[in-house]
Amino acid sequence: MNHDLDRDIQKLEKLLKQKKCQHKRLEHGYASNPPCSRCLDCGSYFTKKQLERLAMPDVIQDVLKERERQDRKWGEQNHLPPYWLGIITEEVGELAQAINETYLFNAREREKGGYKNMRTEAIQSAAVLIAFVECLDRNWKD
Ligand SMILES: [Mg+2]
Repeated sequence: MNHDLDRDIQKLEKLLKQKKCQHKRLEHGYASNPPCSRCLDCGSYFTKKQLERLAMPDVIQDVLKERERQDRKWGEQNHLPPYWLGIITEEVGELAQAINETYLFNAREREKGGYKNMRTEAIQSAAVLIAFVECLDRNWKD
């Protein structure tokens, strides 16, 4: 019992350390196949692709994470553009609701407004638009 608890605490401490870490000191070409980089401060390992992502602004990272989440949830989506229009409009509608619940004097669901909800819905909208472009490129490109 205590052994499990100690292991869980160690895992949580490691996650906390990784979350706070800025990964400023990286050892590149760490012995693995393919070679990866290791943070000397928190002990995290990164592939080349992960390092490229870490160099991107937070908002771009968040949109890409949302794209991955959507793919895990729905799989690759290949719809006709009119169907996409419905998906995009639904998502932008949620963004509109978050904005309205923040600013309209007669808002009735304030818990759906505020910075966090507006940002989340904007990120989801951006990710859905990227999914649409990916679908167009897969299916409609000449
Ligand atoms: Mg949404």
